[in-house]
Amino acid sequence: MSNTSQSLFDRGMKVLVEGVSSASRGPATFGGAPRYMSHGQGARLYDVDGRAYIDWMMAFGALPLGHAHPRIVETVTREVARGTHFATALEVEVEVAEMLVSLLPHVDKVRFANTGTEAAMAAFRLCRGHTGRRKIIKFEGHYHGWWDAVLVNTNPLPPTMFGHPNDPIRIPDSSGIPEEAWKDTIVVRWNDFDAIETAMRLHGAEAACVVTEGVMSNMGVIPPKPGYLKHIEDLCRKYGALFYLDETVTGFRLAAGGCAELYGLTPDIVTYGKALGGGLPMAMIGGRADVMAGLEWGKVLHFGTHNAGRLALHVTKTMLETMLENDQAGFKRIKTLGQSMAAELTRVAKTSNRHGMVVQSVNSMFQIFFTDQPEINDFRDFCTHVDRVKFRNFVLRLFDKGIYMNPSATLHSLSAIVHTEDDIKATAKAVAEVLDEMP
Ligand code: PMP
Repeated sequence: MSNTSQSLFDRGMKVLVEGVSSASRGPATFGGAPRYMSHGQGARLYDVDGRAYIDWMMAFGALPLGHAHPRIVETVTREVARGTHFATALEVEVEVAEMLVSLLPHVDKVRFANTGTEAAMAAFRLCRGHTGRRKIIKFEGHYHGWWDAVLVNTNPLPPTMFGHPNDPIRIPDSSGIPEEAWKDTIVVRWNDFDAIETAMRLHGAEAACVVTEGVMSNMGVIPPKPGYLKHIEDLCRKYGALFYLDETVTGFRLAAGGCAELYGLTPDIVTYGKALGGGLPMAMIGGRADVMAGLEWGKVLHFGTHNAGRLALHVTKTMLETMLENDQAGFKRIKTLGQSMAAELTRVAKTSNRHGMVVQSVNSMFQIFFTDQPEINDFRDFCTHVDRVKFRNFVLRLFDKGIYMNPSATLHSLSAIVHTEDDIKATAKAVAEVLDEMP
């Protein structure tokens, strides 16, 4: 029996919730059957219907080397023959930790986990344990995983639900989250110098941490205003709260040292995921020695059968070696490609300007917004001025031209070392055609 995306979706709907395993992969995002993928090679994804796509989603950023990179294939093939998982101490665990500590000046010690959510859960517990304080200060539209305490104001809202910038209306993004879980979570408008200053005046002395994405990555791509992240760091020092930089998206993506390097920051604690694993599940909590010491002897508890999975660690090592060799050529390449893509798309936007297309990017990350504004600076701009339905329709049309992006405007696209200038030209051409065809 030959399968098609539609037939797999019909079968999947009977046995999987929404036919998939994450809401962002199913009908809630795609408006119908998603494309079921069969394999990937380099910058290409292939679906079960035999169509090829230039992949700009790259597994939500988990694939800086693209699909089936020969070195990753070689690593997995070599290591899998020696056993999949031991749940014991490993040489490669020490080796990868040494690489991370030498690459990240603000990280003295690391602890490995599997996903960004798990790492964040442990990091928040550690912040509370280290400071003896309860409150967590987070920003509107920032996502730190699906844990109850921080799944607040992560989804777009209508403007009537925003509340005052100094005191946003707090709204959990899921049923099943009791108020006690987020009553100590303070939500603040991002990229607003005054709002965080006010929040810190009111709550800073009780705050275990202020957590921020370095580049707002879950409302498209929104860069921080100059000096804004440093302003948060300075306020943390003033009030004794830990400065927690969530580098799940930006780590080993925007620079070898992530946003901390890019914006000259010294976070007390960081979490990494996605790109770190080079396609396998790998995440880490890292930070200053005295903060990380809280995890010793399980004072602040963090367990996990699959922590420091050996296959994933070997792939992490291979990914880091490949990206770093020749004076970090891999990081330079994804940045050049991302910027070239953003420039091409901006050129297309100018020539087909009837749709109000705006491109925002930082290094290897970019997003297209359909908007009446020249730029999108925060969650409120995004919710008020970005046409998400139009973006989804645009991406669904791009699928038919062999271009793959995530149909959610809240996400973003990413370059990998395997993309080429030809891929960029082909994508820009397809985008121009879709803009012409769209009503
Ligand atoms: N933090 C940020 C900033 C993220 O974007 C994400 C995932 N999109 C997470 C944490 C959670 O990572 P994971 O999906 O691996 O649990």
